[in-house]
Amino acid sequence: MDPQRGPEGVVDHTTVLIAGAGPAGLVLGNLLQAQGIGTLIVERASREQVQTRARAGFLGPNSARVLVEHGLGAGLLHKGRSHGVCAFRGEDGEFELDYSRLGQGEVHTVYPQQDLVTDLVAEYLDRGGEIRFGATVTDVDSGTATIRYRGEQGDSVATGRFLAGCDGSNGVTRRAVPGPRLTQDHGVSWLAVLAEAPQSMAAVTYAIHDDGFAGHMARSPEVTRYYLQVPPGDDPETWTDDRIWAALRTRMRVDEFGQLKEGPITERRVVRLRSEVSDRIQHDRLFLVGDAASLISPSAAKGANLAIMEAEVLASALISLLHNDDERPLAAYSRTCLPRVWRAQEFSRWMIDLLHAPDDDFHRALRRARLHSLRDCRAHQNFFAEHYVGI
Ligand SMILES: Cc1cc2nc3c(=O)[nH]c(=O)nc-3n(C[C@H](O)[C@H](O)[C@H](O)COP(=O)(O)OP(=O)(O)OC[C@H]3O[C@@H](n4cnc5c(N)ncnc54)[C@H](O)[C@@H]3O)c2cc1C
Repeated sequence: MDPQRGPEGVVDHTTVLIAGAGPAGLVLGNLLQAQGIGTLIVERASREQVQTRARAGFLGPNSARVLVEHGLGAGLLHKGRSHGVCAFRGEDGEFELDYSRLGQGEVHTVYPQQDLVTDLVAEYLDRGGEIRFGATVTDVDSGTATIRYRGEQGDSVATGRFLAGCDGSNGVTRRAVPGPRLTQDHGVSWLAVLAEAPQSMAAVTYAIHDDGFAGHMARSPEVTRYYLQVPPGDDPETWTDDRIWAALRTRMRVDEFGQLKEGPITERRVVRLRSEVSDRIQHDRLFLVGDAASLISPSAAKGANLAIMEAEVLASALISLLHNDDERPLAAYSRTCLPRVWRAQEFSRWMIDLLHAPDDDFHRALRRARLHSLRDCRAHQNFFAEHYVGI
């Protein structure tokens, strides 16, 4: 039996033990279960919590391909919305980039992360996978692929042949991978809000203003995400609904471009724009995936897309080893993923520089020049389009 309860009654054993049921852990679990490889997911939150946690929404073409190719795309194909235009607003007016006609001609699919996670949980359980919800991993041994976790029943132990650390940026597994981590605080914070209101503009809109950046992103027909640049460390509770809408009206220049569709704010949190990348994302029998492997700022909407890319690479490497006795893809896991992680980091940083200038005239003038180039130069637009949707 796999997973099974061991003779002591406290040890679970499976082939691939997965910490965390976010996009990374659930995509990995689904791909392995589909190939008859036993998995067990240990997840700190309840099922209700993981299925209602609103975060990402913009999935690139590689993520859509992975989900559809592996039979995980029914919800995405049915309810996801294709999105191929973004707009930049500033003191010189507004311009749109139809990135579906630039670069490789690819688009995003807008599908809220909580809907994706809901689909992935249901499909994983259908494929025979097992999830321990409400179980917090407290300790990891990468050599024996063992974790200790604390749940409602008290402390337990689970072992596997391999261990996948998919427990996000504040998880436990990443600490078991030695070696330096390169960290960068980009010095910028965003107030991320969800508004119970339809989107105000057809396109993702980036507004550049002396008060700070503001962003508008579709999520679903009833819910829209907005971002407001705020001072680092700001308390989200000081941002009342009225204050948020007033700041958005100013920075989105509604007098010039039209009113916003307003509604109650249902979530507000301050997100520090940070990056963390380590030299390698594997150690002994432990492999890190998604935010546990590297943290990226949400400025270019890459985090969930990297998580899905890495989950597919790791699943394919494990399948090669377990079914074909070929250990080379698994040995190369870090080398395969890290160059893509760094390209995403580079573009995210590029977006941060575009959207937030240091508070001096020289840098503001440079940013304006970059925006003009993006508005007028086809080569620059193609660069943007390829990096915006790709990994
Ligand atoms: C406001 C915001 C907007 C974003 N927008 C986008 C976007 O549009 N596009 C995009 O690609 N990305 C976006 N991202 C990033 C994206 O949400 C993350 O990169 C993505 O969730 C990473 O998936 P993951 O599975 O690696 O980690 P997570 O989703 O963080 O999942 C980790 C799981 O591990 C569990 N866990 C943690 N610790 C433990 C423990 N000790 N024991 C057991 N379980 C544990 C957690 O409960 C969680 O369920 C956004 C992020 C934010 C904050």
